[in-house]
Amino acid sequence: MALIVHKYGGTSMGSTERIRNVAKRVAKWARAGHQMVVVPSAMSGETNRLLALAKDVSPAAQTPAMLRELDAIACTGEQVSVGLLSLALQAEGMEAVSYAGWQVPIKTDSSYTKARIQSIDDVRVRADLAAGKVVIITGFQGVDEEQNITTLGRGGSDTSAVAVAAAMKADECLIYTDVDGVYTTDPRVVPEARRLHTVSFEEMLEMASLGSKVLQIRSVEFAGKYRVPLRVLSSFTPWDINIEEEAKSGTLITFEEDEKMEQAVVSGIAFNRDEAKVTVLGVPDKPGIAYGILGKVAAANIDVDVIIQNVSREGRTDFSFTVHRNDYQRTLDLLKTEVLPALGANEVIGDAKICKVSIVGIGMRSHVGVASKMFEALSAENINIQMITTSEIKTSVVIDEKYMELAVRALHRAFDLDA
Ligand code: ADP
Ligand code: ASP
Ligand code: MG
Repeated sequence: MALIVHKYGGTSMGSTERIRNVAKRVAKWARAGHQMVVVPSAMSGETNRLLALAKDVSPAAQTPAMLRELDAIACTGEQVSVGLLSLALQAEGMEAVSYAGWQVPIKTDSSYTKARIQSIDDVRVRADLAAGKVVIITGFQGVDEEQNITTLGRGGSDTSAVAVAAAMKADECLIYTDVDGVYTTDPRVVPEARRLHTVSFEEMLEMASLGSKVLQIRSVEFAGKYRVPLRVLSSFTPWDINIEEEAKSGTLITFEEDEKMEQAVVSGIAFNRDEAKVTVLGVPDKPGIAYGILGKVAAANIDVDVIIQNVSREGRTDFSFTVHRNDYQRTLDLLKTEVLPALGANEVIGDAKICKVSIVGIGMRSHVGVASKMFEALSAENINIQMITTSEIKTSVVIDEKYMELAVRALHRAFDLDA
């Protein structure tokens, strides 16, 4: 008997028929003798619908008091899901009980819309499991110290599931989704993408942080920190497939580097359309520039990603960086009102139609010329590179958004990833 956590995403929970299917699959696992904790997302489209309602009422909700209500609204999709799934399991003849995040409780900090999990109390859940019940816990939700409801950021149900698995020392956490594993890149963009049987934790962490939405980054961080055995697999296989076969399907996130006999130099291509670029032109080139600009940005709680500063001419230089697109206008306004006058820079310009494309692979550590091969492939497609950033196992470029798919396909081919 093992303790298993299943997570089902929005598409997997997308209709009452799909929910019945999920219930049948979970019942199969429970009847095979496993203790089951299930973490579902809201039905597909539901979180968007709820947030659109909120936006309609309050187009620019930004203050903490407003963000608090956004979370109170957004979390309700998961509330419906757990109840429906519990009913479906009971209709299957299983004992099941559903909990909201605050009932467990899953405690978080108070950063509304992007709260971080701090602790999970598993006493109640363990008692239910011991009594033979399937326990269903809302994804995405938490509660802060003052009993305010919080949410974990878009895609946060992955993190709920992995955090529950970590807190309960589960034997495995299975992330069921609408693709049958982690691919070399998003199969919706490159149909030739290949499923990876295993992917190293470090690569998965980079891919998630660079935009592969198959797993929320924080879920991968949790898996790494607590060594949670983690697998991504399809909820679209027939529910009654052989359980041993199912348990080995999909993609396993591995923690051992030498697991793969021959390490591919590049394992995957990630891309991200959520960023925007801003440039401060003609900043006096003297000590304190980066702090003068980015200190203000950080103080406004805006995350900065890629940064470049150009060489100076006649004592002045240009300074560019990227931020999340949601923070774009706020960043431009801040730079214009606070940074331009304080630093005596000439002008602030920006571009929201950019994207970041990245190659990822632990094999890059031991190979030279990987980045130049990337630049060659982009140059062959006549794609202009605006910014470059590298680390040990990834190289990212910022390019015009309209070339994103072309770039991803070209790189997928150049690094022999096509199936
Ligand atoms: P869920 O609702 O189950 O959480 P998501 O939409 O969040 O599902 O994540 C699954 C989607 O992630 C897939 O449908 C796929 O389009 C996308 N995706 C992006 N990059 C990858 C990748 N490298 N491998 C697999 N899927 C990816
Ligand atoms: N329902 C939430 C979202 O759409 C959380 C999740 O699906 O993981 O972002
Ligand atoms: Mg998701």
